[in-house]
Amino acid sequence: MTQAEPAPSPDRPIVFRGGTVLTMDASSTVLTDADVLVVGDRIAEVGPRLEVPEGTQEIDARGGIVMPGMIDTHRHMWQTAMRGYGADWTLTQYFVWYYLEHGKKFRPEDIAAGNRLAAIESLDAGVTTTVDWSHNLHTIDHGEAALDALRSVPGRFFLAYGNIQAGPWEWTADPAVRALLERLRDDADDRMGVQIAFDVTGDPAFPEKAAFEVARELGIPVTTHAGVWGATNDDGIRLMHENGFMTPETIYVHASTLTRDSYQRIAATGGSISVATESECSAGQGHAPTEQVLQYGIPVSLSMDTSVWWSGDMFSAMRATLNADRMAQHMDAHLKGDTITHLRLRAQQVVEWTTRGGAHALGRDDLGSLEKGKKADVVLIKNDSSPVSFPLLNPFGHVAFQAQRGDVHTVLVDGRAVKFAHELVGIDLAPVRREIESTIEYLKGACGEETWQQGMFPEMPDAEAAILDNPYQYTDYVDEGKRAGGEERVLGR
Ligand SMILES: [Zn+2]
Repeated sequence: MTQAEPAPSPDRPIVFRGGTVLTMDASSTVLTDADVLVVGDRIAEVGPRLEVPEGTQEIDARGGIVMPGMIDTHRHMWQTAMRGYGADWTLTQYFVWYYLEHGKKFRPEDIAAGNRLAAIESLDAGVTTTVDWSHNLHTIDHGEAALDALRSVPGRFFLAYGNIQAGPWEWTADPAVRALLERLRDDADDRMGVQIAFDVTGDPAFPEKAAFEVARELGIPVTTHAGVWGATNDDGIRLMHENGFMTPETIYVHASTLTRDSYQRIAATGGSISVATESECSAGQGHAPTEQVLQYGIPVSLSMDTSVWWSGDMFSAMRATLNADRMAQHMDAHLKGDTITHLRLRAQQVVEWTTRGGAHALGRDDLGSLEKGKKADVVLIKNDSSPVSFPLLNPFGHVAFQAQRGDVHTVLVDGRAVKFAHELVGIDLAPVRREIESTIEYLKGACGEETWQQGMFPEMPDAEAAILDNPYQYTDYVDEGKRAGGEERVLGR
């Protein structure tokens, strides 16, 4: 461990020495025993034994993996204020909690608390760019609070402005919201971008048209939850397409429960799909559309959706995506009596989706790879005290299946170290913890203890009735129990 070393200073060049470098260039070139030189906010050079300017700070990357900062294209960051609360939710229970009942209780400071924690969590996990799919901005003060919180953390963010508590045709018509969106657009720099976030229900009257028109007029991309079982479907995609609102900048989140016709419309208009597999596996939007994106040639990024249920790091996204795709491939074959001998989705592919794929989706081709001249968002995965750090044979497999956030040694955003030697740099968690505690105390008080508990532990269907009759009895187990002088227990029925 190198904890005693001071974090690299922001005004000197940095070189990562002797690592396995996943450049994630167009050919996903891997270099072993190679260096990455960062000067200012840019990648200056990538290659073996680089000559470096005088005064360059060296980071020993031997035994580690150097890769581009990861990109999450869909995260409801405000919900991180209630981390883990909805671990056993379905999508229906989530809708009831956040949209119909309790989401409205969030004050601007609660949105800020969630956003700040989520933003820090991203950096800690090597996620250097995160889209804040912020759909609970029910007043302009909530919007300002969300923005201020993101600006207080030294990562790259996109504020995807939204408000689930009203129709998108309503809130996008609000002059105060338009003014904020215009300001966000005009102030957009390479650390803060803007999107407009809303869903299309498929109502034949297409009331969302007015919101799309505002987005077009302001020149701001739209991100939308598409193909969500029971919520959004092919009709929404068709209406968008027929009205000319499907563009290369559009991001379709989930895009699970759709037919071929919709995937073809997406493919033909150049937009991308944000696959959030950990979410799709347990919330029920539909199966992650990995097979379809490969079939139809649709650009892909990965996302985590929300920490109210799941994790907030892209290692989990990559792992879940490989697992779900492979499970589906095997099950499809088994139903036909076949056996899969070759997998269609490779570890390299999910690493591409979480780096280059995210950059492409966001129109930021200066991110997502380690190439000369690109922005210096760099992650070093290295943990000398971990038995999981060696042998390092298949670097893509290592990132997707072996590594985790604790192995993230160094993170640079824009050439500046935000994590070094496994410690966040210049970020004090104590005030962040206090603001989260105050939000939780307020929300519990506003809901009441009983409602709070019921929300966290939804009723289970009758578990007893779910156990099927079993003609076999565990007689051996019972006999053993008797011999041991223990209490007789019959587990079968
Ligand atoms: Zn979502």
